[in-house]
Amino acid sequence: MKHFMYAGLAALLLTGCSLSAQDQPAKTDQQKPQSASQKKNTADSGDKKSASELQLAARYFNKTKTVEGKQVIQNPSNILALVNKTYILGDYVPKDLVRPNVQFSFGDQDIEKSYLRKPAAQALEEMFAAAKQDGIDLFMASGYRSYSRQKNVFDAESQKVGEEQAEQAVAIPGQSEHQTGLAADITSHAENFLLTQKMGEDKEGIWLAKNAHQYGFILRYPKNKERITKYEYEPWHFRYVGKKAAAVIYKHGWTLEEYFQHVKKI
Ligand SMILES: [Zn+2]
Repeated sequence: MKHFMYAGLAALLLTGCSLSAQDQPAKTDQQKPQSASQKKNTADSGDKKSASELQLAARYFNKTKTVEGKQVIQNPSNILALVNKTYILGDYVPKDLVRPNVQFSFGDQDIEKSYLRKPAAQALEEMFAAAKQDGIDLFMASGYRSYSRQKNVFDAESQKVGEEQAEQAVAIPGQSEHQTGLAADITSHAENFLLTQKMGEDKEGIWLAKNAHQYGFILRYPKNKERITKYEYEPWHFRYVGKKAAAVIYKHGWTLEEYFQHVKKI
C-alpha cells in the first residue's frame, strides 16, 4: 500500500530539475530503506547556541507580492530565497553568474546551465575538490536556468495543449529553483552522467548527502519529505544556502521549508 501511495505521488510530481515531463531524469525502482540519519554529535549544543542558530535576520525571509494569484518573491537575490510551488520568482536574472571551474557532464560547452551565482560557484569548486581528495569524482550537470528559457518551453506547450494541461507537464516559469543560480544538479560516472535516484545509494550520493553542508549546500529534496517540498526525492539536486543555514538544516534533518518554520525573524 505504501509503495502504491509513493508511486501515485511520484506520478503527480514534476521533478525540480526538469524543464518538462519529457525532460525528466531517469528513475529507478529501488526503494531501499533510508539510511540512519546522519546527525553529527554536537557536544556543545547548549541552549544558548540552539537559540541563536534559530534566529534569522528579516532580510533572509521572502518578501512577496501577489501577482495574478501567485506569490512572487520581491527580494530574489536573497541567498536564502525559498522558491517552491508556493513562492515563485518573477523574471529575475542574477547579476553575479559565473562559470565554476569544475567538470561538467556535458563537456566544456559555455552554455546557460554551466553558470551559477558567484558564492555558489566558489563553494561548488571547494566541494568538488574536497570530494576528489576522498576519491569521489563529481560532475555538474545543470546550474542556472533562465526565466525566459522556461517560459519559451511553457508557452510552446500551452499553445499545443492549453495552459491548464501544460501546467501538468511543464514547470511554470518562475517555479524552478535553478533560476536562483544557487542550485546545482550533480552527477558522476556511476550514474552515466544522468540524474537518477540510484545516486542516493552510490558512494557519490552518500558523500554529498553527508558533506555538502560543510560547503553551504543542502540536499534540497530529501526522501520522505515529498509532502513538504512537493517534489520527488532528488539525490542529485543541491542548493546553496551558505554554511550557517546549511549546518542548522543538516543537523535537524530539515528541508528549507521546515527551516523557515523554525527560525525566528529578528
Ligand atoms: Zn535540479
